[in-house]
Amino acid sequence: MSLTLEEALASLRVLALPMRTTFRSLDVRETALIKGESGWGEFAPFVEYSDQESLPWLESAIEAADKSLSPALRELIPINATVPASNNEAEIEQILSWYQGVDTVKIKVGTGIKEDLARIQEVRKHLPKAKIRIDVNGSWSLDDALININAIYNEVAGDSLEYVEQPVASLGELKQLRELLSASVKIAGDEVLRKAVDPFAVNLEGAIDILMLKVSPLGGIKRAMDLAIHHKLPVVVSSALESAVGISHGLALAARLPELDYACGLGTSALFNQDIGDIPIIDGAIKVKNYPIDIAQIERHELKGERLEWWRNRISRVWNLRRPA
Ligand SMILES: [Mg+2]
Repeated sequence: MSLTLEEALASLRVLALPMRTTFRSLDVRETALIKGESGWGEFAPFVEYSDQESLPWLESAIEAADKSLSPALRELIPINATVPASNNEAEIEQILSWYQGVDTVKIKVGTGIKEDLARIQEVRKHLPKAKIRIDVNGSWSLDDALININAIYNEVAGDSLEYVEQPVASLGELKQLRELLSASVKIAGDEVLRKAVDPFAVNLEGAIDILMLKVSPLGGIKRAMDLAIHHKLPVVVSSALESAVGISHGLALAARLPELDYACGLGTSALFNQDIGDIPIIDGAIKVKNYPIDIAQIERHELKGERLEWWRNRISRVWNLRRPA
């Protein structure tokens, strides 16, 4: 029961899901689904990613299509709201309204400290008790990170600042930052793990306090669990702007981790205008269960012709990079 390339391509559906708000400069999210004996797998590397970087995403999709899961350990997964790098006040208010009952908000920053401070303040105006996590995507220099984190802590967030995700790009800078930072702010690592050639070989000691775990870029649920055990750090399960199929795999990981102390970034379906399954956020959490995938919705958002061909070729090329099992 091992999915072949021919079977994967025969089951391939390519989707273009319209976004409700611009995120990562995207208005439409293109992604691909393959199906095997265990159900749908999602292959969703962003279109600009290289074949090599897309390889763990394919392994993750194959695992989902091929392998069955162990029993879940919990029934509810707490969720954070996700606010893009926008300073449109009405848009921020609207986005927050999509996340009923959440007590944690992740805010994209790094677009200029004035705008960042204003964005955080705007979120705090609507949800003054919420924990705030900011995601810099590694875009600050070490000096900027020191100044900006202190400004955010002192001027707008205070102790509601739960953590700063990937403030600087490299492992060395993360270690230096943690030594130099005066405010007692936790640092989370995302790209430092998921962009690493070998995420098991990265020594995260003294660099970060919290690890972001994303199923697709880390090569699947099992590998993400193995990485959590290997690095011995508290984790936040997050997603990569995937459809309901990919989100359900993030939920499956979150439901199976022995410890889960933080809200998870699995509420990004709210950023889509339409999705292929309905995974509602109720009282700030998502219930762990099998959410049906709506075939009519797949058909409605399906791409044929040149885009289908592009994804077929991409999957074939990436498949050929796989190591024999
Ligand atoms: Mg991130």
